[in-house]
Amino acid sequence: MLSGMRTSSHHTATTPSVATVAVHAGREDLAGRGVHVPPLDQSSTYPLPSVEAGGAAYEQMATGGRPRQDDSLVYQRLWNPNVDRFERGVARLEGADEAVAFSSGMAAITACLLATVSAGRPHVVAVRPLYGGTDHLLATGLLGTQVTWATADEVAAAVRADTGLVVVESPANPTLDLVDIAAVVKAAGDVPVLVDNTFATPVLQQPLALGAALAVHSATKFLGGHGDLLGGVVATHDDWAVRLRQVRALTGGVLAPTAAYQLHRGLQTLPMRVRTQQAGAQVIAQWLVDQPEVADVAYPVLSQCDSAGLVATQMAGPGSVLSFTMAGGAEAAAAVAESCRLITHAVSLGGVDSLIEHAAALTQRPVAAEAKPNAALLRLSVGLEDPADLIADLAQAFRMSSQAWPTRSMEHGDAVKVDALT
Ligand SMILES: *Cc1c(COP(=O)(O)O)cnc(C)c1O
Repeated sequence: MLSGMRTSSHHTATTPSVATVAVHAGREDLAGRGVHVPPLDQSSTYPLPSVEAGGAAYEQMATGGRPRQDDSLVYQRLWNPNVDRFERGVARLEGADEAVAFSSGMAAITACLLATVSAGRPHVVAVRPLYGGTDHLLATGLLGTQVTWATADEVAAAVRADTGLVVVESPANPTLDLVDIAAVVKAAGDVPVLVDNTFATPVLQQPLALGAALAVHSATKFLGGHGDLLGGVVATHDDWAVRLRQVRALTGGVLAPTAAYQLHRGLQTLPMRVRTQQAGAQVIAQWLVDQPEVADVAYPVLSQCDSAGLVATQMAGPGSVLSFTMAGGAEAAAAVAESCRLITHAVSLGGVDSLIEHAAALTQRPVAAEAKPNAALLRLSVGLEDPADLIADLAQAFRMSSQAWPTRSMEHGDAVKVDALT
């Protein structure tokens, strides 16, 4: 299943389990410095020992290198110690050489695409569904990429001489479709594969162990886990890390030190949060299956989104995001989202509190009509609340929606132009 790190708590060997790594990674030097938690360094600039030494340090970091012993850090766009600590934590959890953090998940994906374009291979093969923002970025070609949309089975045929990247998301937003990552890596041949690992987190899936070159996160979601920051991170091999840091230094999509500090702290509870939220999601998914108002539930362990049984092979569990379609259609779905009280009607996911959203109208709004999710689909991110309380909230929202429907007018889920930036 997962290589490189144990996921169970029953271990005696020298390889620490994911729970242990999450608590300690990126903190190895703290005791030696006489502190218990990382100092927060908010410096925008740093004193230079001399013009020559400062210039050499600038050169080192602006070309994607790490600062050397005694180097000035020069400027926050080039380096920040709290960002470095968070990155080291993510790299350990993902089983990667390095990780490079950004101001948001979209900034992280942008850096991967810019590095690909600048290497002279602007063609991207992308497997839908993808997060709406990623789909929109590729569809507009804003960064100079050319996209071919493919199913996982069509990847080999879609690869061209100028293909620089294959992009997949598994589990995918918002249908929870799973992609066989190892099979896509094989089909891609020499072309690096980027896996958006936001939904799984490294606790449940490590794409690099399956052959992917890049594991990308919207750190805004599970890694942060508390809905109070934006961030992105890419776990990868050291050659890619150099290129990504170079893009970051040039374009400035840097993670703020305070967000890095919070993200690094968030990693400590990540395994516990992921497993507890997953346990709640399993209860809720099972309940949803039995509700007459619900036409279909997408959750990897119980439905067609994982017909190949990948949750048992490439993942350590199905996670805590699920989606379901309302039998009453788009109007019923909108009414449920608007009637939830304990569950917040909001985009985003992966936090300690549960969120519900109408995917076609919001997260997947910019996606072309042929790739848009069902307008009756709601995406639910299950938090740490007691599942019984969440079920009670959903039950009252279902009752409200059956009263409201069918008198509501249809105003959600209309197509949005993707050929223009809107
Ligand atoms: C939210 C999200 C993103 C974008 O991340 P931001 O931090 O919002 O920029 C990318 N991929 C997935 C799967 C997401 O859920």
